[in-house]
This record gives sequence, C-alpha cells and structure tokens, in this order.
Amino acid sequence: MTKHNEWNLDNSYQRLPGIFYSRVSPVAVKAPILIKLNESLAKELGLDIEELKKEPDIFAGNQLPEGSVPIAQAYAGHQFANFTMLGDGRAVLLGEQITPEGRRVDIQLKGSGRTPYSRGGDGRAALGPMLREYIMSEAMHGLNIPTNRSLAVATTGESVQREIDFPGAIVTRVASSHIRVGTFQFARQWGTVDDLRALADYTIDRHFPDIKEDDNPYLSLLKEVSKRQAALIAKWQLVGFIHGVMNTDNMAISGETIDYGPCAFMNSYDKSTVFSSIDVQGRYAYGNQPDIGGWNLARFAESILILINEDEQKALPLAKEVIEEYVQLYDQNYLNGIRKKLGIVKEKEDDTVLIRRLLDLMEQHKADFTNTFRALTLDQFDDNIRLFQSKAFKEWYQQWQDRLDEQNESKEQVQQLMRTHNPSIIPRNHRVEEAIEAAVSEADYQVMDQLLSVLSNPYAYTADQEPYTIEPPDSDDNYQTFCGT
Ligand code: AMP
Ligand code: MG
Repeated sequence: MTKHNEWNLDNSYQRLPGIFYSRVSPVAVKAPILIKLNESLAKELGLDIEELKKEPDIFAGNQLPEGSVPIAQAYAGHQFANFTMLGDGRAVLLGEQITPEGRRVDIQLKGSGRTPYSRGGDGRAALGPMLREYIMSEAMHGLNIPTNRSLAVATTGESVQREIDFPGAIVTRVASSHIRVGTFQFARQWGTVDDLRALADYTIDRHFPDIKEDDNPYLSLLKEVSKRQAALIAKWQLVGFIHGVMNTDNMAISGETIDYGPCAFMNSYDKSTVFSSIDVQGRYAYGNQPDIGGWNLARFAESILILINEDEQKALPLAKEVIEEYVQLYDQNYLNGIRKKLGIVKEKEDDTVLIRRLLDLMEQHKADFTNTFRALTLDQFDDNIRLFQSKAFKEWYQQWQDRLDEQNESKEQVQQLMRTHNPSIIPRNHRVEEAIEAAVSEADYQVMDQLLSVLSNPYAYTADQEPYTIEPPDSDDNYQTFCGT
C-alpha cells in the first residue's frame, strides 16, 4: 500500500493581524541531503517515514509540504537586558501540523535563508550548531523536560561564512508554538491594543483554553505562564541544564525550552557556571536562571498590563502579586523535585536543611552534579571521589538515611523513585562535541546516533550508558559555547 506523507497543515497564526508576521518563502539551496530524520517523532506527527526520506527538498526549503503557507514571525526581546526588534531572521514557519491525536504543533525550518527580520545576518546556519540543537533538544525530551523537538536536519550543499567556512544546514523544529514573551513585547511596543488583545486571545485559545471564561482571562494568562515557567526552570535546575541565553525572545509562552544556541549541562555543582562565550557578566549562570525567569515574567506582565486593566496603574498590583508568587512556585517545584531525587516522599520542613547541606558539600568538593545523585541512587560510592571521602559527607549520609527511615516506603520503592528522577546520563559537553565532530568532519553519524540512543532514556541505568557517565577530566573549565552560529 502506498501512503502519501500525510501532511495536515493549518496556518492559524495568519489569522492574527498582519503585523505579527511576514509572508516569506524559504530560500532554495543548492543540493539538499536529508542527513537525519527523527523517525519516532515523525510517527507521532502522523507523517510517513518512507515518503519523508524521499523528500529532502521539504527539509531544505526547496519545496513546500502540502498546505504550507510559510511566514516569518515578528517579535522583539530583551537581549541581555537591552530591548530590541528581532523576529525570525533565519527561520520560516511552514505551518501547524495537526497530529493524529489532534495536537497542533509548529513546523519550522531554521537556517532557511534571509527574511525581512534578518538585519545584517545571512539567514543561514552551519551544520555543527544544527546538530547540536538536534542532540540537545532530543536529550531534553528524553529527560522529560518540555522542549521543542527536532524532526530533521538537512545539509544544503552550500557553505556558510563564519570565522571560517562551514557546511550549511537546516534543522526542522517542532514546537507547541513559537509565541514568546518577546512576541507580546513586540505587540505592546509596535502594535495597537487590539493587536495585543488578538495575540493574547490567540495564545489563550491555543495553550490555555480552560481560562477563557475566567473573570479576568489576561490575569489568568499571566498566572498560567508563571506556573509553566516556574515548573520548567525547576526542571532545568534539577538536571543541571544551563540555557545560556535566556533573553525574553527565547522564553516560550508554552513553557517549552526553546533556542538551543549556547546551552550546556553543568558538571561539578557550581552556581556560577557559565559556558556561553558572550555571557561575560554571568547573567545567565546556572544559579541565576530562576531569578531571570522572574525577570522575564515581569517583562511579560508589563506588556499585558493594559489588557489586565485598561488603567495600567490598577493592573500593576495584581501583576506584582503573580510575580511574587512565581518565586514561591519555583521554590516548591524545585524542592519537590529535589526531594524526589533524594527518595523523600512526603515533605517535612527541615528537609531544606538536609538539601542545602548536600548542595554545599557538593559545591565545596566540586562534586559532579549528575554523578553524585547517580551514586546516591545506586548507593555505590567511588572511593576516589573527594566528596565521598569526606567526614562531612558521611555524616550527611547518616542524616539522610535517618530521614528515609522515617518513611514507610521500602528501600526498593525509594530507589525506584530516585531512579526516575536522577538521570544516569546527561549530554556531556565532550560527548556532544565528539558526535558533532565525527558528523561534520567525517560524515560519520554513528557516534551521534549512539549518543542519541542512550540519551533517549537517561533514566534507564543500562550498561551501555556507563561510558557516558564519565566526567571530562577538567570539569569543562575551559569549555565555551556560542550563540547564533
Ligand atoms: P538567537 O540568538 O538565536 O536567539 O537570535 C537572535 C536574533 O538574531 C533572532 O532574531 C534571529 O533570527 C537572528 N539571527 C541569528 N542568526 C542569524 C542569521 N544567521 N541570519 C539572520 N538572522 C539571524
Ligand atoms: Mg532566539
């Protein structure tokens, strides 16, 4: 039986006022080759894998899938606290796929050529960073963290000029939407109040239909965004994920992780960890992420105050209350998560003391974040690790055991809980680089495929994951990541 590829695209974003987008086609490339296809994701989307494999043109922008009316989206954003106009400068939204389950997801090409929002940029992307996005987003998905996903990577047969020439590539991203805090900031700054309201109503319909009938749906919108952001950033903190560029244009209203430019995972526990080459002040350091989430939320609140109450002065105290609640929401999410990482089922107030003590010891002994929790989960402690040799850790361990003994759960139940909350592996920077290097320099995709395979279930604790638990020798002290490359 031959099946066609089952694209089922809608273009609802274009029912918004025209200022929110520009109609633009991807710019055709010389010689597309589909080098990576995410088959399980394709299935979820209702797409036919064999057909897709025959169609590198779609993933390179040379041909449009049936039903696509492509656009670039307009948005603004605070980049390192400076407000500016942005927009999809190298991305094109092909349309929204309605999945067999009835979900609506954006299908977007990134690296697909210049758009009206490209400013000085070439609209293109290099293969290495697109593979990086693929690996990191799929790793986040494996960790059960909300994220946009990667459906495919195609090379273009063209080179992109950066410090040197690199092979060009396009990644196909799948997201529950690309509406950002920066989209609202754009509407508030350059649109009318009607434009802003249209965006807010669209967002509510698409992501939060339950609040539509609330007394003040726009205040509810702020609360919902706050909830999702608090939950998301807590999840990041709990696995040591450092986003690297939490500008307001990179914060999705849906609560998914988006924009995988300079992100990286922390090795040894240190709140000041930064990998991004441009983050010289450490604004987006690991330990600052929760606060930056709050800062971004405040920018979101400012942009919709006028919808909450046409007298913004009256809206202000309502919004402030939500932003203050964000801090508690975040703390709750984080504490609940870390309790589970320690096998603690019910909360007790002085758990925070136990938790703080462990984190302090980890910081003091430069202990690897992932592997410390892995060791606690397996109850196996390598004598070569400084933290585990220390008297203070041994005392802490006893206190922890006493705390676990207060519970009714069996040792097995506790371990099961810990296993589902402590990944055995994360995408270590040296492993990610190794996979990208093999792909880019030698067209060898096996290293990447193997990495993706072990990362697809990081909670599996299988033997083939073990080699991926090894820490880089210098804790990645000199490791740097780059944006917009
Ligand atoms: P990012 O750092 O990826 O969040 O990008 C910030 C802004 O720069 C967005 O508006 C991007 O579309 C734009 N941008 C990044 N790289 C390029 C490029 N090569 N060409 C055009 N625009 C770009
Ligand atoms: Mg961005």
